[in-house]
Amino acid sequence: MRPSERRSPQPGPELQIVRSSPPIRRPLILTLDTQGQPHRWVTWQHAIFYYSRNMVAWDAGEACFTFHGGISRKTGQRSIITANSIIAIKGRALSSRTLRQIPPLTNRELFHRDRHICAYCGREHQALRLTRDHIRPVSHGGADTWMNVVTACRNCNQRKGANTPEQAHMMLLYAPYVPNKAEYLILSNRSILADQMDFLAHHLPSQSRLR
Ligand SMILES: [Zn+2]
Repeated sequence: MRPSERRSPQPGPELQIVRSSPPIRRPLILTLDTQGQPHRWVTWQHAIFYYSRNMVAWDAGEACFTFHGGISRKTGQRSIITANSIIAIKGRALSSRTLRQIPPLTNRELFHRDRHICAYCGREHQALRLTRDHIRPVSHGGADTWMNVVTACRNCNQRKGANTPEQAHMMLLYAPYVPNKAEYLILSNRSILADQMDFLAHHLPSQSRLR
């Protein structure tokens, strides 16, 4: 990671993004805290806000996106901001508590965690045919948490009903786990750039199925 030598154009309130290059591909920008820990995805507009307020400490990505703003009244020049695909934001480092925070459980991220494979029959299915199975059923006091849920196809979920795997004689083919921050960031973004993926892959937990 190199220190940023980026200019800070201070575009002023008249900044309006009129065009950008590349013009169509506008991926999300990965932000890090000052310790280099992955934090969250932001839009390119948000990244430009960070640049214009001189809040980018350094960058770590390989891809750059140039945005052309309005003409400055002072200089008569068009403002230009180049945003990197991975940027560290100045300010306090995130506490270790924030980094250890458990990501929210949603079906979309759950199915991604389990690679769209049913934990009981082992077949891969489209998301439409998948369900969130509570290993220990909610009616038996099972929690709605990452460690008590797996991806199951509709047939298997129906067959298992309100039973534990033992009661239903349906063995789990893989174990559940809690994704960490880096894994959650991968799961929650469908168009990650190669350099962002490389960066996040270094922060994956050892049991991750994304490895
Ligand atoms: Zn199944």
